Amino acid sequence: MPTPTPFRSIAHPLTLPLPIYVPQQGHVADSGSPGAMRNRATAGDDRKDNRRDEDIDPSIVPADALKHPGPRHRIVIVGGGAGGLELAARLGDDLGRHEEAEIVLVDLALTHLWKPLLHEVAAGTLGPHENEFDYLQQARDHRFRFQLGRLEAIDRKRKEIWLAPLVGDDGMEVAPHRSLTYDTLVIAIGAIDNDFNTPGVREYAHSLNDKDDAQRFHRRLLALCARSEMVSAAPVRVVIVGGGATGVELAAELSSAVDVIASYGVELKELRRPVHITLTELAPRLLGALPEEVARRVHEDLEQRGIAVRVGQKVESVDAGGVVLAGGERIDADLTVWAAGIQGQSILKTLGDLETNRLGQLIVRRTLQTTRDEDIFAMGDCSNCIAPEGTRPPPPTAQAASQQAQLLAQSLPRRLAGKPLLEFTYHERGSIVSLGGDEAIGKVSTRGRDVTIQGRLARLTYWALYRRHLNLLLGTVRTALMTVGQWLSRRSQPRVKLH
Ligand SMILES: Cc1cc2nc3c(=O)[nH]c(=O)nc-3n(C[C@H](O)[C@H](O)[C@H](O)COP(=O)(O)OP(=O)(O)OC[C@H]3O[C@@H](n4cnc5c(N)ncnc54)[C@H](O)[C@@H]3O)c2cc1C
Repeated sequence: MPTPTPFRSIAHPLTLPLPIYVPQQGHVADSGSPGAMRNRATAGDDRKDNRRDEDIDPSIVPADALKHPGPRHRIVIVGGGAGGLELAARLGDDLGRHEEAEIVLVDLALTHLWKPLLHEVAAGTLGPHENEFDYLQQARDHRFRFQLGRLEAIDRKRKEIWLAPLVGDDGMEVAPHRSLTYDTLVIAIGAIDNDFNTPGVREYAHSLNDKDDAQRFHRRLLALCARSEMVSAAPVRVVIVGGGATGVELAAELSSAVDVIASYGVELKELRRPVHITLTELAPRLLGALPEEVARRVHEDLEQRGIAVRVGQKVESVDAGGVVLAGGERIDADLTVWAAGIQGQSILKTLGDLETNRLGQLIVRRTLQTTRDEDIFAMGDCSNCIAPEGTRPPPPTAQAASQQAQLLAQSLPRRLAGKPLLEFTYHERGSIVSLGGDEAIGKVSTRGRDVTIQGRLARLTYWALYRRHLNLLLGTVRTALMTVGQWLSRRSQPRVKLH
């Protein structure tokens, strides 16, 4: 491991305007190829920069500087999601602020949206912009540097990562295929939905992997409601495949959102149920990760809302008109959502020959180091941490990703100081499922005992995890201001986004 070097002040020779590109993360499975990027990238903004040297944003890194390692230890974190952004902020506040290491965050988008909010964006009960944060601003506030780019390859011998080229809307290549050297690399690129090779999923089903997916879903929902209002006067039919937390939360959120959308129409308002939602699950019950009692209550709650819950049902295929179950039964749908589990992005299987499990996630030791390279760490949904004897590996949740970020934020400075790394143990603090509005249900663990909570208390606990994430990124004052601002805007605007 390179020895940490003493403080050196860094000049920021910003001579070029920072290009702003917004690569779309599209339908994910093979999102790593440069060709895919070319098809999806959108236009840039070539602002002229007239700032004086002292105004220059330290988060902006000239591309050349990234090719050559500086004198300070460089920690590169790829993926600024629930885990990666938290880690970048914590390390930036510590090592970055004291100039003990250079922290660089890479993400394929310019903004961060906490993934557990995606079902609300999809239903339209939350506008994506209200909760989106610019990586550049985060980088400036927390003293790390941000690079926009999609991880494509790792050269472990040269300790370099390769980022796919960035191409603007008009086809102009804005940034070429480029490399970035690291001393320590942390991979935190999250996961994508697992289609279990079911025919038709990629072509016909929506998924909720990122903000674009959620917005695409919302636009389609509004279009279907408009068609129902103006042409068919028939309910909108939605099938959600997967009765885990994502599927359940989406079903509940949608059922209340469509009632609100319908209240603005004439024909839709006349319908007793403007949306027909069917939730299918392969296992004999919903929410396999939660206690049976919670699953039973959720099942009853969903049925009371008019949602058809079909457990123990395997979906064999998806087509333009709905899904076909094992045994041949068909469920017609205008909109099918696939939320049946996760897997690692396909790129992980080719990244520098690192070890992956059968879900394509990187296998990491309890120190979160990958098994074949101790300078490469992985955390969050893209990783699978070897659990101590008799315990289960951490679940793919924001809660686990955040705990891993906290561990690495302590462990990596120790590594720089030549001390041994810390080992990760997952602490289950509870699991809450949001059921829309003020409703939520779940279990919390106190003093080794699981307690089921419901209603406002559960909703408050559900929000606490996000507020903690916000507090870290924005600080308590800005988080409080933002919460009040959102509360006010929710009272002055339609409860569901109608555009
Ligand atoms: C609808 C929904 C509801 C959920 N509800 C909850 C909940 O209530 N509680 C809970 O604990 N968990 C919940 N989860 C799970 C939780 O969102 C994830 O477990 C968590 O976000 C994982 O964090 P992460 O940092 O590993 O990855 P993510 O948060 O997914 O972040 C990955 C980041 O990597 C970037 N990226 C991806 N590929 C590349 C690439 N090739 N190059 C560069 N950057 C890349 C992405 O842009 C993204 O910013 C929910 C998930 C969904 C979909």
